[in-house]
Amino acid sequence: MTTDPHRARPRHLLQSRAAWAPDGGIGAATGPVVDMGEFGSYAGPHRLIAAENAGEQVRLTWDDGATADFHRLWLRDNCACADCRHPQTRERTVKLVDIDEPGRPSVSADADGALTCTWADGHVSRFDPNWLRQRRPGMETDAQPTPRLWTAARMADGLPSVDHHAVMHSDDGLRQWLDALTRDGAALITNGPTDLNEVVRVAERIGWPRETNFGRHFDVVSKPNPNNAAYTAIRLEPHVDLPNWQRSPDFQFLYCLENEAEGGESLLVDGFAVAGALAQEDPEAFETLCTLPIDFRFQDSGNDIRFRAPVIGRDPDGTLREIRFNNWIRDAQPMHPETAERFYRGYRRFWELLRDPRYMIRFQLKPGCMMAFDNLRVLHGREEFFPNTGKRHLQGCYIDRDLVDSRLRVLERS
Ligand SMILES: [Zn+2]
Repeated sequence: MTTDPHRARPRHLLQSRAAWAPDGGIGAATGPVVDMGEFGSYAGPHRLIAAENAGEQVRLTWDDGATADFHRLWLRDNCACADCRHPQTRERTVKLVDIDEPGRPSVSADADGALTCTWADGHVSRFDPNWLRQRRPGMETDAQPTPRLWTAARMADGLPSVDHHAVMHSDDGLRQWLDALTRDGAALITNGPTDLNEVVRVAERIGWPRETNFGRHFDVVSKPNPNNAAYTAIRLEPHVDLPNWQRSPDFQFLYCLENEAEGGESLLVDGFAVAGALAQEDPEAFETLCTLPIDFRFQDSGNDIRFRAPVIGRDPDGTLREIRFNNWIRDAQPMHPETAERFYRGYRRFWELLRDPRYMIRFQLKPGCMMAFDNLRVLHGREEFFPNTGKRHLQGCYIDRDLVDSRLRVLERS
């Protein structure tokens, strides 16, 4: 297995202009020739000039000489006619299991430069040439830009930020903010109102908040009988929220309503950047944190929510997927002494790097400002604050990555 810690998994599923731009250049684009029942754009300048059967494939040639082979069953399965794809829902209605083996179609590049396939049972499928071109074998229809990992030096001028009014009232503002959030893993909204539950209204610009045992949203204040460290006034080490859940929240929003108390500066650190640094500096420690399952657990009078996973999560190809670092809800798990030796050595070094001022940024969140971050990548924390010097009130909520990515794709349509 290859392990390149710097190959953080691109989170951002926004279709990239580069992958979709008509390669004939701006101005050469034409509208679709065939309605493929598709919201995404497939305008493009290309026409098919040839189509021929080649064994089980249909070989297509476009007007610039590009060629590609499509399996005949793929073509039958992806027919976009009204019988095969629901005209309103745009979902597939053709069921290959219910139709006769379609055989090899007779194919042609028709007068519009589209592909026409006539099947053995007489069914006719037409395909837009540029839609097919986007879906050539090997193409990525959801191209994923690489996340921009950061250090404190790179964020010296502060997090990317967008004005609250722009986020709430313009698609451009919302897109700008979500683009920064998904690439940098953290972004601010500034100059907002200090109204209760504004954090939920921001989330509703995207979709729906993700509910947890802390509710649809939560109030970060110093409470008399806290069930969580955030509800005290103590310093919070950099952490991710809810690693004790199988599906930890993807994004977290923290909206500042009042911040008059002394202390309480917010801390953020790009966990993927730090994991990469650990891999460079101490590959053995990195490997331990990637492979040793750790128990996380939240318990209060009504809940006992547990999950076991390594501190650093990788995909099978070695790209970083998630960080699960939260010291106060790490459970007291049985551990062989030799395992404990390895674990505590790696854990300490990772923790030291997370605290390292080369990586950690620190700032005072102002009332009317909201910080948003990728909870599985960017760790957050705060300095101790002193409740008797003034009020401090933040409201938070979570939102799923699916909704963030979806909102970006929809914004990208226009
Ligand atoms: Zn059809």
